[in-house]
Amino acid sequence: MSQIHDYVEYFGGPRPNCSICGHGPADAYWMADNGDIFVCRRCAVGVFSKLLADTITAEIDSELGDPRKQIEQALGEFEKEFHRAIVMALCRRLAQTSPTDREVV
Ligand SMILES: [Zn+2]
Repeated sequence: MSQIHDYVEYFGGPRPNCSICGHGPADAYWMADNGDIFVCRRCAVGVFSKLLADTITAEIDSELGDPRKQIEQALGEFEKEFHRAIVMALCRRLAQTSPTDREVV
């Protein structure tokens, strides 16, 4: 997973369109087993959140206890990974910025 700028810089060519909606340029990509997946910000937020909900609710098993707790647990796991991914993306972005371009507060 990475930002589309890294993809364009490495592979060249124009910025690919989003693989989900087909509209507009992608903002990030994944190199999956079946090919690259390009995603725009709108789909990442709007579509993937629904995919997450479908995935979580598909695994709810009433024999494992309160379904609300199962959802909260999955959401907690998602939030942990989301924040970890945000930190990693910001660190990659900071590493690509030259020291003279960094803003000093
Ligand atoms: Zn899209």
